Amino acid sequence: MNVIRFTDLIAAGKVAGQRVFIRADLNVPQDDAGHITEDTRIRASIPCIEQALKAGAAVMVTSHLGRPTEGEFKPEDSLAPVAQRMGELMGREVKLVANWVDGVEVKPGELVLLENCRVNKGEKKNNEELAKKMAALCDIYVNDAFGTAHRAEGTTYGIAQFAKIACAGPLLAAEIDAISQALSAPKRPLVAIVAGSKVSTKLTILKALSEKVDGLIVGGGIANTFMLAAGLKIGKSLAEPDLVAEAQAVIDAMKARGAAVPIPEDVVVAQRFAADAPATVKDAADVAEDDLILDIGPKTAALLAEQLKAAGTIVWNGPVGVFEFDAFAHGTETIARAIAASPAFSIAGGGDTLAAIAKYGIEKDVGYISTGGGAFLEVLEGKTLPAFEILSRRAQG
Ligand code: ADP
Ligand code: MG
Repeated sequence: MNVIRFTDLIAAGKVAGQRVFIRADLNVPQDDAGHITEDTRIRASIPCIEQALKAGAAVMVTSHLGRPTEGEFKPEDSLAPVAQRMGELMGREVKLVANWVDGVEVKPGELVLLENCRVNKGEKKNNEELAKKMAALCDIYVNDAFGTAHRAEGTTYGIAQFAKIACAGPLLAAEIDAISQALSAPKRPLVAIVAGSKVSTKLTILKALSEKVDGLIVGGGIANTFMLAAGLKIGKSLAEPDLVAEAQAVIDAMKARGAAVPIPEDVVVAQRFAADAPATVKDAADVAEDDLILDIGPKTAALLAEQLKAAGTIVWNGPVGVFEFDAFAHGTETIARAIAASPAFSIAGGGDTLAAIAKYGIEKDVGYISTGGGAFLEVLEGKTLPAFEILSRRAQG
């Protein structure tokens, strides 16, 4: 995807003395007292800000935080804790500015944090008047917030329409690059793992990927529904019988292209959904009426691991079993380790997938870990994210 990159503007000497407006994703989790419980997003946003400052820009940064009511500023919606933490991490004071839409005072070499942008009336609905006012605050607009790239809001879309220059920050650019490497011009074979709890939440992804990938590995509750489609019995396992026809359509679409959806050959079952429930490995054909399938079996896991090791590109969303319970984590761990060991370029995303990656400590061995949950899933669905669309349109002049 062709977008203007902030790093290129810096390299071309076009940032010194300019007013730069950065839309970051600083939406960190907080406890009831407002303390930040996890600051990854703040840390991840700092490189772009540092680069802008080093290049001699006057820097304004904003983000949403939580779900404020537009037009009603409440203390709990304030970015104050973020300003404080950012200041600690950067070793400088980060001034927080409220009511900033009509004008911001900031000089080259200075950094100000602009209060929660979702407090501004018209932000969510991408009001044009608001967008124009925000665009007028800067010479260069930088979008570095992949987590909100699937939303067309004032600070993610409208401002990009009207700012003199609109470009992608380093975090957003890295996501764009990883996604195009994995999906636009992938090294083949391209293998996708779509697993997790429900077919219904990932049906669009399964359909979109079935037109692209060479292998589509299903797991978790999703695999159970595919097992039903293959005529297998799954006992009391989590599945969506009303989506069997849809699963069959995905299998058929893959078959028509000479590709396959491997159905598990063996599974790990239990009598109840609990961490201490005894685990039994069974052939997929032998699942009893009172069995709960909670993981793929070791034979299946080993076969899939071989397929992943031979892949050119791997896309991973969803654990293939109830990996939160150690007795049913073997399949997900095997998949995770196979991805880590594979020479393929890999990209992974999804809340529970990220938890699995952390559990097995393979962060460094995955090609790219996407931080934008909803935005990542929409990319897999084959959608063009609004933030990407407007930035690429602006790059065409
Ligand atoms: P992600 O957040 O990565 O997109 P999902 O939310 O779709 O993934 O699915 C993750 C959840 O699916 C995990 O909590 C896991 O325990 C659950 N899960 C996986 N396999 C099964 C299964 N066979 N039965 C029930 N739940 C499962
Ligand atoms: Mg999840």
